[in-house]
Amino acid sequence: MGCSKCGALVIRDEEIAMIRHGSVWSTRELEFASVNWNDEKWDENKKCRYSDIRCEVCHQLVGMYYHERPQLDNDKSKESKLSYPCGKILYLRQSSGGAIFNKTVLLGEKSMVDSAIDNLASSKFNNSFVFSP
Ligand SMILES: [Zn+2]
Repeated sequence: MGCSKCGALVIRDEEIAMIRHGSVWSTRELEFASVNWNDEKWDENKKCRYSDIRCEVCHQLVGMYYHERPQLDNDKSKESKLSYPCGKILYLRQSSGGAIFNKTVLLGEKSMVDSAIDNLASSKFNNSFVFSP
């Protein structure tokens, strides 16, 4: 998957641990994305520390790197599948105004991208369609 703004590679398929609710999760360090280790933040909703993940080329925000397992997480099924620390690459996001936009896009040969889309099932999420395996 690549940055929706400049097309640079962000995460390779072998780095993906899980695809869920418009995000791609990785339990490995991401070779082609930048984690801002010097700017650790606190997620008040999940009660855990995280840092921004940005595109290495244009520096668009493309995700969050969670340093520890969230103390609060409504989605227990997701939590059980992941080990922490882990990265969350954003695929689809919804603005406060309701618009749906991509933070990352699928990259690769047309036949591979078409095949990936054919093998993903759509599901309802926040009044939009997102892909999950
Ligand atoms: Zn970029």
